[in-house]
Amino acid sequence: MPTPKDVYTLSDLRNWTSLGKDLKPPARLAVFGDPVEHSLSPQMHNPALRAADIDCQYIRLQIKADELVEALRTLGKAGFIGTNVTIPHKSRVFAEVDEMTEVARRIGAVNTVLVSGDKLLGHNTDGPGLKRAVREEFSLDLEDMRVMILGAGGGAGRAASVQCAMDQCERLVLVNRTVEKAEMLAEELRNLDDNTRLEGPAARLEAIPWNANAIEKELGQIDLIVNCTNIGMNPVDPELIPQRLLQPHHLIYDMVYSPPRTRLMAAAESVGAKATNGMSMLLWQGALAFEFWFSREAPVEAMRRGLMQS
Ligand code: NAP
Repeated sequence: MPTPKDVYTLSDLRNWTSLGKDLKPPARLAVFGDPVEHSLSPQMHNPALRAADIDCQYIRLQIKADELVEALRTLGKAGFIGTNVTIPHKSRVFAEVDEMTEVARRIGAVNTVLVSGDKLLGHNTDGPGLKRAVREEFSLDLEDMRVMILGAGGGAGRAASVQCAMDQCERLVLVNRTVEKAEMLAEELRNLDDNTRLEGPAARLEAIPWNANAIEKELGQIDLIVNCTNIGMNPVDPELIPQRLLQPHHLIYDMVYSPPRTRLMAAAESVGAKATNGMSMLLWQGALAFEFWFSREAPVEAMRRGLMQS
């Protein structure tokens, strides 16, 4: 029996009927990305598939931007149930799926695809994954919090912001280095049909530039700060928010999970604030993807153990 490769390619996918037939269990789920070798998704999904007694394994597929459409359209013929998509494909897949969930439509990106007959159904579990992670980490719901999103103009920041608006959080402050992106998003969120709690005084939904003065003015009226930038992944990264601005009542959700204790988390903890990394969001966005593929509850603890061992 062949040993599964760490990373497969489009050329492998094209020949999947012959290449994949000897894999036991058969590979029927994948993550598409470029690069993709760092993805922890197999470590999370393969234990889940075993725990749920589903005869299937999850693999990594290195798919370049110009290969994406062919790769998506090959999935069904190759016998795949679906796929996750990561950098740089989430926006492009949005344009390629045949149908999508409401949350994916609002976020404007797809990170999970289900093959259904000859159709591709898209979903986005990043926003819902953050929601579940925040509940697990802080025992609070987004709807009960005043939230500041750092990096609202990126893909993860947009997903987080849309989720907060859909959940009608108490207050939403969007911060982005390129402030125009945050302003455009704020405008869009003000127009969400069911967003009654965020309509009203402008201060309940604001876009502000990335500078210490503007951030300082808001922080007294903020409960949850979510870092959606990639700052914190590198040991030489700058300070995200000056430590003197953080207060003991703040809850910090840092989407970065490598390193496990980021500079922002250390700064928050030093002033007595509660802080956590993005591992729980990775877990819950994966669990929600599993539920989208199989219409059954995900074995979350098996997934958590898989991630902890990775
Ligand atoms: P992205 O689309 O490239 O967005 C990056 C964001 O960071 C943008 O808002 C960008 O601002 C901002 N940014 C980058 N460098 C900056 C700097 N030096 N100063 C201030 N802002 C800066 O990336 P993404 O896909 O959203 O991912 C962002 C992070 O979230 C990554 O670390 C990723 O690993 C993490 N993430 C984690 C999970 C999880 O499950 N835990 C899920 C998704 C993403 P501009 O708009 O001004 O460029």
